[in-house]
Amino acid sequence: MTRDELKALVRTVPDFPEPGIQFRDITTLIAHGPGLAASIGHMADHVTGARASAIAGMEARGFIFGAAVAVRLGLGFVPVRKPGKLPVETIGVDYALEYGTDRLEIDPAAVDLGERVVIVDDLIATGGTALAAVELLRRAGAVVDHAVFAIDLPDLGGADKLRAAGVAVDVLMDFEGD
Ligand code: AMP
Repeated sequence: MTRDELKALVRTVPDFPEPGIQFRDITTLIAHGPGLAASIGHMADHVTGARASAIAGMEARGFIFGAAVAVRLGLGFVPVRKPGKLPVETIGVDYALEYGTDRLEIDPAAVDLGERVVIVDDLIATGGTALAAVELLRRAGAVVDHAVFAIDLPDLGGADKLRAAGVAVDVLMDFEGD
């Protein structure tokens, strides 16, 4: 399937979770078998060549895309989790969302020193989530210089912030506006 066909499978829900937010809902994309497979195939193509040994995905939708890309490429998967979920001592970072604030945590032992890790998530908006993940993974000793997203909201500038942090960004589709 083409990227335009995949984009047509994403449902836009106005005013969720707050008035003024156009929520780009991937539920409809992942419910579509060929659409899900093609999305993972395109995202995996972007990861190939990054010489990564692991994919990191952010809870929760990043788990869907990240784990599928990891399996497809035979790589490990590092879950970047919401607070209080991991049963070990974690490192964490608080960050701002397009709506509200949140915190991400990882098990510092989940990555090896110098290991190359590619970040995969469903969507990049302000980039706060992805930048927090980059910071955490780098603190744990990983080399993070590449991230892949299904959807970019370019008007919110997140991808540019990631590039400024030394992370190359690839996306399958973008939606103008926020
Ligand atoms: P951000 O930290 O601003 O880049 O937000 C990224 C995360 O928030 C993504 O993992 C999305 O799951 C979610 N998100 C933010 N804005 C939207 C939106 N307009 N539509 C759907 N999901 C969004």
